[in-house]
Amino acid sequence: MSSRKFFVGGNFKMNGTIKSIKAIVENLNQSNLDQNVEVVVAPPSLYLLLVRDHLKPQIEVAAQNVYDQPDGAFTGEISAHQLSDSNITWTILGHSERRTLLGESDAVVSSKTKYSINQGLGVIWCCGETLEQRESNQTVAVVTGQLAALKEALGTDAAAWSKIVVAYEPIWAIGTGKVATTEQAQDVHAAIRGWLKENVSPAVAEATRILYGGSVNDKNCKDLAKQADIDGFLVGGASLKPAFVDIVNCHL
Ligand code: PEP
Repeated sequence: MSSRKFFVGGNFKMNGTIKSIKAIVENLNQSNLDQNVEVVVAPPSLYLLLVRDHLKPQIEVAAQNVYDQPDGAFTGEISAHQLSDSNITWTILGHSERRTLLGESDAVVSSKTKYSINQGLGVIWCCGETLEQRESNQTVAVVTGQLAALKEALGTDAAAWSKIVVAYEPIWAIGTGKVATTEQAQDVHAAIRGWLKENVSPAVAEATRILYGGSVNDKNCKDLAKQADIDGFLVGGASLKPAFVDIVNCHL
């Protein structure tokens, strides 16, 4: 086992109601979660405070996006300062749904990431390839290209990288029920760690958690979790279900 603390994030996306989210919180509060796992859940922004107010403190709460400017005239946005003020300690950034549907570029994602880290937030930073890119053997080039854009913003500063959890999420596996094989996932995770070693530092490569995301469920999580370079999961659909607890407890 590596010394990296296993990390499981739950991305609720644009799902839930007050009632259903309270039920998820209640279920998490009543569950015995593996103490060796860091758990972070990301409800829609409207429900961030509801979740933070009711969820046991062992579990941290993440936004699904944040703006890269101080508080001010930015209608519709939420600032890193407002998140910290509300005890929301993490944010997801660079999710493929925002990169593809909303056109967020590598530069925008990198800028938001740098700003959030400077404001003290942890960032679940997502990367991943399309099916077309995988089928034309571009997976590693795509993912390391996304990482290179992040490095342009962060440099090699170990303190900045310590606030990042990398989530490798092949786009073809998100919400499709098609999970990457353990080998496909491990290969890309190893390539990401190798890239960090070469381009940031061996210490950052060793310390950085690399999560797998894409149709993770309570059935496939155990084998994925055994891979040397898989340090946790970012879970979408299954994070809305009681089975999320089994994913968190995949080592028990
Ligand atoms: C996600 O949204 O980050 C994700 C991995 O979704 P799902 O688990 O539903 O594929």
